[in-house]
Amino acid sequence: AEAELLRVQRYESLALLASGLSHDLRNVLQPIAMGVAMLRDDPNEEIRKVGRLIEESTQRGLEIVASMLSFARGSRAAVHRVSIASLIDGLVMLLRGSLARDVELVVDAPDRALEVEGNATELQQCLLNLCLNGAQAMPGGGTLRVASRTLALDAGFFEPGETVAPGDYLRIAITDSGVGMSQEVQERLFKPFFTTKEKGTGLGLLSCRRILANHGGVIRIDSAPGKGSTFSIYLPMAAAEATVGGAAATALGRGER
Ligand code: ADP
Repeated sequence: AEAELLRVQRYESLALLASGLSHDLRNVLQPIAMGVAMLRDDPNEEIRKVGRLIEESTQRGLEIVASMLSFARGSRAAVHRVSIASLIDGLVMLLRGSLARDVELVVDAPDRALEVEGNATELQQCLLNLCLNGAQAMPGGGTLRVASRTLALDAGFFEPGETVAPGDYLRIAITDSGVGMSQEVQERLFKPFFTTKEKGTGLGLLSCRRILANHGGVIRIDSAPGKGSTFSIYLPMAAAEATVGGAAATALGRGER
């Protein structure tokens, strides 16, 4: 419990820092982006070229700021019941258009009516991050597989620092046939700003884990160099829909404990 608390506190201060930093940075970058756009039509070729470089870098800075902000926002989202169907369909819609043509997307889901409790936008953001990572790990093309099923987890499944909550979970596994990861990379995956990509932010997986933690979920990785990777997320299943009176009673019961 103490380790968990420490991690939550570390997350919170990181989020606070990210939020402050990104607002400040945005205020610095936006006027540069606006100003440099004026160089686009400069008669001097050399100046146009420098302008383009500045514009690209500024754009890149603004993207990093945007992902820092979405990481920082993390914990304040509205919670609803979300069906597997809406999660998977939303994901496929987001992916359509962003996957290279030589990446084949294969999706299989269990009973689409099953539900988890949470924020659909956040969960989709997390799934999208994992899928785009998978796609980026397959520069020569390959298969991106999204498979979901339900399973019971016991206390032994959870690692130190995670909230131990045995019960029924939804597992969504995202498998790519890409380059895979060395042990060394796997150990550093969740470090803020760790990236092996030229244009990476190194915040994608961290923000995934944060979103999952807010949902009582966890993430597991199975990967080897040259063999591709599977990122599996586990989300607690929502209890079967109760009648209105019943639901209120359950909520009260929970509050008292
Ligand atoms: P970013 O994608 O911006 O680099 P992430 O936190 O999402 O940030 O990922 C961190 C690093 O983890 C990546 O730079 C990459 O080295 C590694 N990684 C993540 N997903 C995969 C994957 N599916 N296959 C191989 N490497 C991956």
